Amino acid sequence: MTVLQARNIVRDYHLAGSLFKPARTVHAVKGVSLSVTKGKTLAIVGESGSGKSTLARIVTMIDAPTSGELEIDGEKVDITRGGLSKEMRRKVQMVFQNPYGSLNPRQKIGDVLAEPLLINTDKPASERRDLAMKMLLKVGLEEKHFNRYPHMFSGGQRQRIAIARALMLNPSLLVLDEPVSALDLSVQAQILNLLADLQDEFGLTYVFISHDLSVVRYIADEVLVMYLGEAVEYGSRDAVFSAPTHDYTKMLFAATPRADVESIRARLARKKAA
Ligand code: ADP
Repeated sequence: MTVLQARNIVRDYHLAGSLFKPARTVHAVKGVSLSVTKGKTLAIVGESGSGKSTLARIVTMIDAPTSGELEIDGEKVDITRGGLSKEMRRKVQMVFQNPYGSLNPRQKIGDVLAEPLLINTDKPASERRDLAMKMLLKVGLEEKHFNRYPHMFSGGQRQRIAIARALMLNPSLLVLDEPVSALDLSVQAQILNLLADLQDEFGLTYVFISHDLSVVRYIADEVLVMYLGEAVEYGSRDAVFSAPTHDYTKMLFAATPRADVESIRARLARKKAA
């Protein structure tokens, strides 16, 4: 089943001119098509400025494309006419690089998790609480964490909280924008494992944005490489990694050390044992 389908997505930004600068248009995304099957992970990679975040904002229905078509669970998305239903919004959830910025410092974690249910459903408080507690445990946190505040958690734990919150409404698609880039390597591996476990258990579908090829190699089923707003490479992980066809991708791969998450983990284990 196809969860996400995007056809020919274009996004231009029109920048107003000033006395010294003429007005101009930035072509951030230049006609990108992609699709993601249920239970799979599509990784979008590319250097800074290549259009990854712009594409992510369009897929999460935060921003409208200049042109092109987007379908979620086979249903056409049109955010320009304000006709986007609550149900459609629920279907796509996002996890950002720095979850601390999106966590209310005065809200207990239990309430952080229950809030999407309060806003979007008419479940009674006791049920909201039960579901929040269940999700807390699912992401590897403990019952005692329920009544704690965001500042009492480590970076990795906060990312677990952000993932739990994103899953509360049972979304069809999770868009993860550099979700482990700010974390230590050993914590990165833990969060990537958690995401893989959750995907297996719930059949989750991910769009995973990253500039880090070792992370992409670990998590992706399919890889889309962005370069200056275009998809210059798109295919299965093994195909893209074993035989990159575009010059930019070859350069990108050549510039990246071949260590992946597994080998980093093995090195840490050896260090610990020594
Ligand atoms: P990435 O996520 O790969 O770093 P972005 O999607 O953020 O790339 O940016 C792609 C291009 O679009 C860049 O040239 C960037 O400067 C431009 N851009 C992004 N957002 C805006 C905006 N709100 N207004 C004008 N230009 C933008």
